[in-house]
Amino acid sequence: MVRSKTLANYDGLMHGFGSLNETLSLMLGTENSLPIYKAEQTHSSVVKHVRSDHKNYRDCDALISRRPGFVTIKTADCIPIIIYDPIRKVVAAVHAGWKGLFSGVIINTLNKLKDRGSRIKDLRIVSGPHIQVCCYAVSEKRVRLFANKGYPSSSIAKRINGTLYLNLNALMYYQMEKTGIKKAQIDSLDICTCCDNHYHSYRRDGKNAGRNYTFIGRTII
Ligand SMILES: [Zn+2]
Repeated sequence: MVRSKTLANYDGLMHGFGSLNETLSLMLGTENSLPIYKAEQTHSSVVKHVRSDHKNYRDCDALISRRPGFVTIKTADCIPIIIYDPIRKVVAAVHAGWKGLFSGVIINTLNKLKDRGSRIKDLRIVSGPHIQVCCYAVSEKRVRLFANKGYPSSSIAKRINGTLYLNLNALMYYQMEKTGIKKAQIDSLDICTCCDNHYHSYRRDGKNAGRNYTFIGRTII
């Protein structure tokens, strides 16, 4: 399990990005009795707030919580993003692949946090292991989809020997900066799920790929 140094020093905050065979119960410990809130992801841009009486959230790709317990997502190449507001004690977990980035799951999450009283400048953000530009070969059409929305293709994609590679992290930064987030607020763990055999990768392992689990949450409120 990897963690970000930027989130290490907050009292009562726990987070982690799991690799092969690291289940949530393994990462959180069998003694954990706090609730685990799960998003049943669909590559959408839907964001939900957790409720105390409800653990599984259908048809959404981001969860926001102020309750004790953990919000979780699972990925195999898409970006797992966790967000913490240390002032309002709010956590969020976001699953952002190219579809989610395209349809606005990050922007929707930041807007929902703002609606509930978080200030953009207070947010701490970590993007976890995902497929990096080294491995994410895509069609011209996919890059054009983003270019048509105003993203500069020179910064979101790279061409090597005639093949185009999409940079999901650059897309994430671009969207975050548009919303007012500064680079210093973001920590990107520099791990490629496709290059690194310690992680599940859809691109490398195909349809039978497992999933890497991510969690963030507070043990006290
Ligand atoms: Zn790679």
